[in-house]
Amino acid sequence: MKITRVETFAVPPRWLFCRIETDDGVVGWGEPVVEGRAATVRTAVHELAEYLVGQDPMRIEDHWQVMTKGTFYRGGPILSSAVAGIDQALWDIAGKTLGVPVHVLLGGPVRDRVRAYSWVGGDEPGEIAEAVQAQVEAGFTAVKMNAGGRTGKVATAAEVHAVVERARTAREVLGPDRDFAIDFHGRFTTPNARRVLPELAPLHPLFVEEPVLPEYAHRLHEVVGASSVPIATGERLFSRTDALPALQAGIAVLQPDLSHAGGISEVRRMASLAETFDVLLAPHCPLGPISLASSLQVAFSTPNFLIQEQSIGIHYNAGAEVLDYLVDPAVFRFDQGHINRPLGPGLGIEVDEQAVRRANDSAPDWRGPLWRHADGSFAEW
Ligand SMILES: [Mg+2]
Repeated sequence: MKITRVETFAVPPRWLFCRIETDDGVVGWGEPVVEGRAATVRTAVHELAEYLVGQDPMRIEDHWQVMTKGTFYRGGPILSSAVAGIDQALWDIAGKTLGVPVHVLLGGPVRDRVRAYSWVGGDEPGEIAEAVQAQVEAGFTAVKMNAGGRTGKVATAAEVHAVVERARTAREVLGPDRDFAIDFHGRFTTPNARRVLPELAPLHPLFVEEPVLPEYAHRLHEVVGASSVPIATGERLFSRTDALPALQAGIAVLQPDLSHAGGISEVRRMASLAETFDVLLAPHCPLGPISLASSLQVAFSTPNFLIQEQSIGIHYNAGAEVLDYLVDPAVFRFDQGHINRPLGPGLGIEVDEQAVRRANDSAPDWRGPLWRHADGSFAEW
């Protein structure tokens, strides 16, 4: 079997899909994208395709080695995301060729269903109770929210209070048997995080995510040591090597993204590395159906898995939804806040190719918001 063609599709709301075709007629799908840099990643995918066309798609690990190391310069979000999408498509081809789901190739299922959480915004404190209640009624056992908007470099008493009140509102609606997590989005400085975390601890968040930016991994141990709140990070870490300092700093939850961190091959290894640090895996996934399907294949075969992010119905998917590009969206149906094991071959989804081709190149050039502080200086989003 040989790879004959690699195509890419830029589709709404902000996603990039790749389709790898073989001379056997087996087709694999992947989702190689960085939010806001889809066109750049697309170029990288087509550069890698120059090597892949004519190769045997079943040599996934060898292709991964060549793609990540073969041009001397390596790593970073663009290349790692291009490799990630191609890697997903190759695993999809392998599973379809052998007639089994990818998680069976990874050792078989270690659980029967995967717990997922839903986003509840969090930027508008007045809407939190209602948003959390809606997710509870939909059957979810966990939600995640933002801590707030622009945050000063050292939080005022009022800013600290506002974060804690959001968390308290969520806890009151959820009761003691459900969970909430808070995403700081790298907006806090180390001292800010150290000030806020002890105040959140009595409310028992499932975890606090990206309390500080990933470039401050050398100070992450101070954040971890500030309270008993489990610390999560990883959506901006692209390999085992990137993740190692965070693991050594004592984080509780590692959150690599299947579409950013070298795909199924590397996230599987990052999970295994995390296990040696007693750290749990919670794959980051605000992206589309192929990224979510890839996440689930890892989740079902990873013993130290905690919970899965997903963005079905989320407010920022303007123009298209996770389920829009699937022949049978029932594969992602929630059952009491969980997703059942996908039994289909490969990634376990059937991409609606006609819908993807129709939507191709109609995606807006999505960019992350650019925020400023009150004094006009740059603010982390
Ligand atoms: Mg995040």
